[in-house]
Amino acid sequence: VKPENPDKMSTTEQTFIAIKPDGVQRGLVGPIISRFETRGFKLVAIKLVTPGKEHLEAHYADLKEKSFFPGLISYMNSGPICAMIWEGLDAVKTGRTILGATNPLASAPGTIRGDYALQTGRNICHGSDSVENAKKEIALWFKEGEQVSWKSALESWTYE
Ligand code: GDP
Ligand code: MG
Repeated sequence: VKPENPDKMSTTEQTFIAIKPDGVQRGLVGPIISRFETRGFKLVAIKLVTPGKEHLEAHYADLKEKSFFPGLISYMNSGPICAMIWEGLDAVKTGRTILGATNPLASAPGTIRGDYALQTGRNICHGSDSVENAKKEIALWFKEGEQVSWKSALESWTYE
């Protein structure tokens, strides 16, 4: 189907956002979802999961040589994770901006990590860092059919 406004659709992306176990335990599921919702992004998939060590090692495969890797995996495996797909204009890069820097102390106030976290090893949320990685992460975390395609009533109030 051809979009009615190609300019509008051309940078519409999906990104994988996860609230890590510390974010879930600290009661930050609502506030984190709110940041993405109120910014104008559309939620197309969400679930609470404990995917296990193997899955988490696959998710962070690019970091497996790092000294903090075992600690990272046990942190990620310590409780439920809220896995989500958010969709909208420039969702990958803007999602990272909403999260803040990897090190919360370097994150500006107003970002999720800059408002709710202090240490890199407890930085409460994950967001895809490129469109290519977003596609891989979405495929890793979600099965076919777990995404919901829907038209937001706010679309024409969010996009020109
Ligand atoms: P992100 O994309 O901003 O999440 O950062 P990276 O992809 O570089 O790292 C993935 C995750 O590993 C981070 O969000 C942290 O939870 C963790 N991590 C990265 N660097 C460090 C570190 O130096 N120490 C510890 N303890 N954890 C780290
Ligand atoms: Mg990363």
